[in-house]
Amino acid sequence: MNKEELNRIRTEIDKIDNELFDNLLNRSKLVEELHKIKLNCKENITDISRELAIKNRIISLLNNPAKEKVFLSIYDTIIRELKFNNQPANINLNTEISIEISKKKFMIAGPCSVENSIQIEELAKDISNIGIKFLRGGIFKARTNPISFQGLGIDGLELFYNTAKKYNLYTVSEFLDIEQAQSYYEYFDVIVIGSRNMTNFEFLKKIGYLTAKNNKPVILKRGFGSTIDELVSASQYLTNSGNESVILCLRGIRTFEQSTDFYRFTPDLHSIIELRVKTDLPIIFDPSHSAGNSKYVKDLSIAAINLGFDGLMIETHNQPDIALSDGKQAISTKVLQDINSFLTK
Ligand code: PEP
Ligand code: MN
Repeated sequence: MNKEELNRIRTEIDKIDNELFDNLLNRSKLVEELHKIKLNCKENITDISRELAIKNRIISLLNNPAKEKVFLSIYDTIIRELKFNNQPANINLNTEISIEISKKKFMIAGPCSVENSIQIEELAKDISNIGIKFLRGGIFKARTNPISFQGLGIDGLELFYNTAKKYNLYTVSEFLDIEQAQSYYEYFDVIVIGSRNMTNFEFLKKIGYLTAKNNKPVILKRGFGSTIDELVSASQYLTNSGNESVILCLRGIRTFEQSTDFYRFTPDLHSIIELRVKTDLPIIFDPSHSAGNSKYVKDLSIAAINLGFDGLMIETHNQPDIALSDGKQAISTKVLQDINSFLTK
């Protein structure tokens, strides 16, 4: 063993560790200064594109998936743990969203998937003109077929977030796993747990702990093969972690009716009656996936409003015929406006 060489390397490592500590200390001081400026500033000056830029740099420089994972996780720990003395970053924002939700009868609209800047810009503009506050848009998509469009992934995050903020809209979107949720947490104002993940209990627990830090709203969609009791139990994985802003979403279930190829799923509107007895959480309805056909979305929405749902989540597209996912069930923003007028009556 070459002792000299060993000592040289150890000294180098110690030097780097000390520098890392000094840099982290400086970083946390700067973050606190930034926080003070933000507290005195009325408008939203958060710029999360910087976070995405550094992550993209890590990915492009390392070009090694295993190392990327380690470095991204270290970076995430730094930005999360050294944030404003560990105070929740956007507690005010989440209070504002909760107020919007508690107003009852809130609408979430937007495309199944974010596809390009023209599409999301046109939709965000129309949706905000209608007076809707929540923009949905799939970035990470849980598609049944692996060769179907899987969403823009991280390339779509900034586009979706910036477009929504341009029109003063809250972003609503799904994370498929906990790594995505940890890495891109700030991009979604409301997190969706999709139907296919409702029974992924470890994921629910982790999302619960992650979002409880600042009460970020989470929409839990009913698994299309799950009972109401199973949905209620799944929601408790989230609420047990401390998050008080959990919203349930009925989105259609599988029954023998699908053999007629009429509906994509069977609209489970009636389940609200049972759910109201079993939970106090807000309950919204997704007529788009329930029906699978734009022709039935308006009638189902009106039925849901009459049954007392707290809100609706509806897929909308500027060009449904060429949509990259779920075009058949997407309504135009004109029909959306029509539905919204029933909701606000
Ligand atoms: C979606 O909202 O686009 C979606 C995939 O929904 P679900 O999880 O209900 O199928
Ligand atoms: Mn969809």
